[in-house]
Amino acid sequence: MKFELLGLNPEILKAVTEKGYKKATPIQEKAVPAILAGRDVLGGAQTGTGKTAAFALPILNKLNEAGKSSGCPRALVLAPTRELADQVCESFIAYGKFLDLKSIRIFGGVKINPQITNLKIGTDIVVATPGRLLDHINQNTIDLSQIEILVLDEADRMLDMGFIRDIKKIIKALPRHRQNLLFSATYGKDIKQLSADVLRNPVSVEVTKRNTAAEKVEQIIYRIEKGQKRYLLAHLIREENWYQVLVFVRTKHGANRLAKQLDKDGIPANAIHSDKSQAARTRAMNSFRKGDLQVLVATDVAARGIDLQDLTHVVNFELPQVPEDYVHRIGRTGRAGKSGTAVTLIAPEDRSQLQKVEKILKYSIPEGHVIGFKPVYDPTAKKTTAPKKSSKRPSSNAAPAKKGGGNNRKFRPKRRTR
Ligand code: AMP
Repeated sequence: MKFELLGLNPEILKAVTEKGYKKATPIQEKAVPAILAGRDVLGGAQTGTGKTAAFALPILNKLNEAGKSSGCPRALVLAPTRELADQVCESFIAYGKFLDLKSIRIFGGVKINPQITNLKIGTDIVVATPGRLLDHINQNTIDLSQIEILVLDEADRMLDMGFIRDIKKIIKALPRHRQNLLFSATYGKDIKQLSADVLRNPVSVEVTKRNTAAEKVEQIIYRIEKGQKRYLLAHLIREENWYQVLVFVRTKHGANRLAKQLDKDGIPANAIHSDKSQAARTRAMNSFRKGDLQVLVATDVAARGIDLQDLTHVVNFELPQVPEDYVHRIGRTGRAGKSGTAVTLIAPEDRSQLQKVEKILKYSIPEGHVIGFKPVYDPTAKKTTAPKKSSKRPSSNAAPAKKGGGNNRKFRPKRRTR
């Protein structure tokens, strides 16, 4: 559907055109009119569906229509991570470029004083992580009495991260009469409860079936011994010319180690996780975006809220502890109409975790086999056995392009020239 049909004002349409968006995504098509009409919304959508614009555009429209405020925030967006809060705030700024509305971000890990100054100067929209917002509430440095619209973005992640008590405290500090929007990729028991507590007669807007993987993402598993995973990953990246790969691991230590190994093997890689400073994470993200870094190795917590376009490959080097995280992970590719591939490396010890993921997906992920990969003897590894060869061919809809495949070329690390 064309944006012009959604009932947004010309300044917002101009900003959307500048962003290069041609058509509204399904979540935008459904959520924008409902939000403009003042309804509470329960949005079942993961990142990559255009959900940020789905709430940001109508919020800007409504605040603009209502006229200039006293300087107290009128819309509050809560997000699980600083990365997401940062991106959502950037979106508000970009979409509101031609309006006289201000958006600020509030999150931890950075000094509180500049945030206090910004709040004093005045703003219309606040995008915040729950912890730091509570600090401001407790220190009386924010006035939430004028909030008309509350957004809980990636609400399932916020609950996973243990923010439920903070969220409840924040909600207590808000006016009772307000519009509420809740977005979540999954719809478990806790989200149902939170929705029931917060939303009033909501319009339910869903774009992908809950707990099912994005349709655009091609999924495939490779069975491989644990100690060979890093070599297979390097082989796939080279042979199939993957140029922008987000690799998920479970631990911070594992992220550092894998990034170092790949880098040593001639594949520019870096790790992001919660022990790294915000500045280091931003630097890594930027060089990944620019293409200086070919691989970003991340833990689930650090990857939450990362907005990357054109991400072609997501690799589950290890499956997540929480099976639902698989859906979030693969949602990082195949975004906004583009296709993507999610590759999962399965060692014998990962099998039961794979079963749990497949149960959620209600889908058995097709298995592929790699051509031309020879196990690498690693004297530093505790155990290196040959990867189990799969007899199964990948099913027709799952086989990734095998560029350079079939040549039985021996794996040899080489420095990539970029
Ligand atoms: P989100 O789901 O909000 O994380 O958005 C995913 C990506 O899609 C972001 O990079 C947006 O800039 C982009 N996007 C949002 N809406 C549209 C649209 N209507 N057309 C094309 N790209 C879009």
